Amino acid sequence: MTGYVTIDESLCKGCALCVTVCPKGLLQLARRFTSKGYQLVELIDPASACTGCAICATLCPEAALRVYRTVKKSLSLRSGQESLSLRSGQGDLR
Ligand code: SF4
Ligand code: SF4
Repeated sequence: MTGYVTIDESLCKGCALCVTVCPKGLLQLARRFTSKGYQLVELIDPASACTGCAICATLCPEAALRVYRTVKKSLSLRSGQESLSLRSGQGDLR
């Protein structure tokens, strides 16, 4: 299962709590600041290692993180020699 995170820059206060709790170490403080002077956080995930566990979003005191998780659903229908398989799904967890 894979996931990704978006950051609402208008809400982030740069407290770095999410940076400390991500089990994959994918969040870090960026070299950018909000208009109010808060340092922004960013997701660095070139290998798509985010699992969508949502620990970061759960602990963010500003509700600035939104986590999306890719869910694979499979459906197989078999009748005689025919087979149909469907896969789809993307879930917004917050
Ligand atoms: S925990 Fe929330 S407010 Fe703190 S740095 Fe992360 S996204 Fe920003
Ligand atoms: S959802 Fe989990 S793996 Fe992904 S950035 Fe947040 S804490 Fe890290």
